[in-house]
This record gives sequence, C-alpha cells and structure tokens, in this order.
Amino acid sequence: MQEKEPQGRTQTKAASLEDCSLCTQGGRTKHRYDFDLVVVGGGSGGLACSKEAAQLGLKVAVLDYVEPSAKWGLGGTCVNVGCIPKKLMHQAALLGTAVKDAKKYGWQISGPVCHDWWVNQKLSLQYIISFSEKYS
Ligand SMILES: Cc1cc2nc3c(=O)[nH]c(=O)nc-3n(C[C@H](O)[C@H](O)[C@H](O)COP(=O)(O)OP(=O)(O)OC[C@H]3O[C@@H](n4cnc5c(N)ncnc54)[C@H](O)[C@@H]3O)c2cc1C
Repeated sequence: MQEKEPQGRTQTKAASLEDCSLCTQGGRTKHRYDFDLVVVGGGSGGLACSKEAAQLGLKVAVLDYVEPSAKWGLGGTCVNVGCIPKKLMHQAALLGTAVKDAKKYGWQISGPVCHDWWVNQKLSLQYIISFSEKYS
C-alpha cells in the first residue's frame, strides 16, 4: 500500500488485514485461516522457517512431498541424500586411510584391513532414519 507524504514523497506501508478489500467488501466478515503460515517443503529451509515462525507463536503447517522413487522422511535433501550421508561416507573413507597409516605409527593391526560396504550402508541408513524421526 502506498501513501503520499506532505512533501510529495511516496512511502510504502505494510498492508494489514484491514486494508484487504475482500475483508471489507459487501460487509463480509474478515478472513479466517486455520494456519498463519503454510510452508511447502520439509527440508532444511522449510523446517528452519517453520520452527522460527512457531517460536514467534504462529500456527504453522509443513507440507512435504517426496516422489516414491526416492522415499525419505522429513528433513529434505541434506538429511536424507545430501550432507549427512555424504559426511558418513567421507568419515568411513578417512577411517580406512587412518587404519592403514596406523601401522606405520606403531599400531599393531593383525590381518589385512578390509571394508564391508553393507555394514557401512546399514549404519548410515540407521543414522539417517534417526535424524529424520527427530523432525517428525
Ligand atoms: C550430495 C549432496 C551433498 C551436500 N552436502 C552439503 C554439505 O555438506 N553442506 C551443505 O551446507 N549443503 C550440502 N548440500 C546441499 C544441501 O543439501 C541443500 O542446500 C539443502 O538441502 C537445501 O535445503 P532446502 O530446504 O532448500 O531443500 P531440500 O532439502 O531439497 O528440501 C525440499 C523439500 O521439499 C520437498 N518438495 C519438493 N517439491 C514439493 C512439493 N511440490 N510439495 C511438497 N513438498 C515438496 C522435497 O521432497 C524436499 O523434502 C548437499 C547436497 C547434496 C545433493
């Protein structure tokens, strides 16, 4: 909404419900909404936004939809297929190198150092599910 000041400058004012023509037209009652804010997407951005709004006392709904081909829980890309799984795999790779190097530093490790991909996958999945459940 714009208003002219006496000096001729135009000032922008935030619109309120009272300014809404739908609310005042034909003596209608004011809008009534079930939620103050509806957030589309329950990823890092959507969840951060909805948590902040809820802390300010707003009633918030989060809508999260995922294609069945990449089924995951709340938390979006970062938790389910992005930052978190990447860091778990990176950590696994770092440990592999460290274990090999450890022998040179005097650590006695019997037998060859082997990696079981499926054990790693199971652990990663459990971790991701626990993260996702925290958001639900
Ligand atoms: C492999 C990989 C590694 C990454 N590593 C890092 C890292 O180390 N550090 C870092 O900071 N960032 C990293 N990122 C980036 C990070 O994951 C994204 O920046 C972040 O997830 C973006 O958050 P977002 O909320 O915008 O979107 P998203 O997390 O993608 O969330 C969007 C959500 O909206 C849902 N959605 C989409 N369309 C609709 C619809 N029409 N209706 C309802 N819901 C819908 C999606 O299903 C999803 O759950 C990485 C990304 C990838 C892919």
